[in-house]
Amino acid sequence: MDLLNYVNGEFVKHSNEKWMDVLEPATGKKFARVPLSSAEDVDLAVSAARMAQNEWGMLSHKIRAEWLDKIADALEEKYEDIAILESRDTGKPISLARSVDAYRSVTNFRFFAELIRNQEEEEFLMDDATNIVIQKPVGVGALITPWNLPLYLLSWKVAPAIGMGNTVVCKPSELTPMTANLLMETIDEVGLPSGVVNLIHGNGIGAGAPLTSHSDVNLISFTGGTDTGAKVAAVAAPQFKKISLELGGKNSSIIFDDCDLGKTVAGVTRAAFLNQGQVCLCGSRILVQSGIYDDFLEKFIESVKGMKIGDPSDEETELGALISPEHLSKVESYIQLAEEEGGKIITGGRPSLPKQFENGNWLSPTVIIGLKHDSRCSTEEIFGPVVTIHSFETENEVIEIANGTRYGLAGSVWTRDLDKGNRVARDIHTGMIWVNTWLHRDLRVPFGGVKDSGVGREGGRWSLGFFSEAMNICLKHD
Ligand code: NAD
Repeated sequence: MDLLNYVNGEFVKHSNEKWMDVLEPATGKKFARVPLSSAEDVDLAVSAARMAQNEWGMLSHKIRAEWLDKIADALEEKYEDIAILESRDTGKPISLARSVDAYRSVTNFRFFAELIRNQEEEEFLMDDATNIVIQKPVGVGALITPWNLPLYLLSWKVAPAIGMGNTVVCKPSELTPMTANLLMETIDEVGLPSGVVNLIHGNGIGAGAPLTSHSDVNLISFTGGTDTGAKVAAVAAPQFKKISLELGGKNSSIIFDDCDLGKTVAGVTRAAFLNQGQVCLCGSRILVQSGIYDDFLEKFIESVKGMKIGDPSDEETELGALISPEHLSKVESYIQLAEEEGGKIITGGRPSLPKQFENGNWLSPTVIIGLKHDSRCSTEEIFGPVVTIHSFETENEVIEIANGTRYGLAGSVWTRDLDKGNRVARDIHTGMIWVNTWLHRDLRVPFGGVKDSGVGREGGRWSLGFFSEAMNICLKHD
């Protein structure tokens, strides 16, 4: 299957003959080709978005919310197709693709439809005047997404962006383009006005960079690695584009002596290895209070060894393949580094799987102990099924360890004492902390990181704020 760009309501071939093979991470087999589009293709898409923006931006919130609902309804009919495609394209287990990727992609459109439908203009009264705050569209948005949660993250941006009256050009990861294509088919089927949503396939240099630097793009919502985010920010800043950066993370799971050990082991295992550890929020540094360190370690290893790795299409599978051979090599290089840094690898290695998976990108869940908490392996983002475990004595000590990375995205605290959980959470420098749970998402709350994990917040009304320009109209009374 050769994918096409989607520009001005039509599926179109890109302007050159450059393609990239789309490979199944589980088998290494090619199953599609993605265009490697160029600046010329980006220009056409941005022009289409610009042409459509005025009319689309003038529609009421109510009408745009109805369009979001139509897209949600049409996507819901393809629930199983989304799950199958996402599992095949990313190597993740089908059960996860269903419960997380397909579910959230539909829910994102419905959630923002409801939020936007109920948006009201704010008023601030003075003795002699009334201030009205209106939210206007920003203009043309560039929406750039990574490979780990392809449609989940794209829909998280498209829905609030167009809901607030912007038109957009999407640039999904070249490694996982299949469900972005499905979304364009869906948008086409429901008959969304041409040019409101456009999509350009391609890599960062060929398509992403010309899109972010395009003078007619007013806003960039970028999710991806911290180094790429820095490049995007450098291009956007001198042009004063509105920018949101959702970047990498190295998140701590902080486990106190007084936790419910059974629930903590289950929760921390999930936080460590969901999507093969390829979620920006994954808890890859496990910090355990010394009183239960041995007990936790024993039960955690038992839990990790019990995880079923293999065929992503098998309903029972808990761990699938990593995204690419290059990423597998990067993750394995960190395991080698851990050994050089004095760590002890307790579980891991290449799993033994049926012949059909011999060319896939497989790695068993890897647990490393004995490293210093400020070693490279325990402070740098690995983004794979690899965790390091460390022990601590006091609250102050664990706060210092948890804050000892360049990242500040998320984390979790495990304790029966909710006051302590709340107190410790407040001292951790991240955008999000869960206490006695992980990735328990309420779509109304802010999402984003501090330090090198990003700039700005999306989610709920924070998304509506980012994807609009607030304007104050002050009416002086007679
Ligand atoms: P990446 O930075 O390599 O690529 C992300 C996207 O940016 C892709 O579409 C890519 O083609 C594009 N891109 C690359 N170079 C570009 C450039 N110069 N200009 C514009 N676009 C460019 O990231 P990845 O490997 O796809 O994803 C993994 C990273 O994403 C991890 O670091 C992970 O933590 C992060 N992530 C963060 C969040 C979050 O919400 N904070 C969510 C998911 C993933």
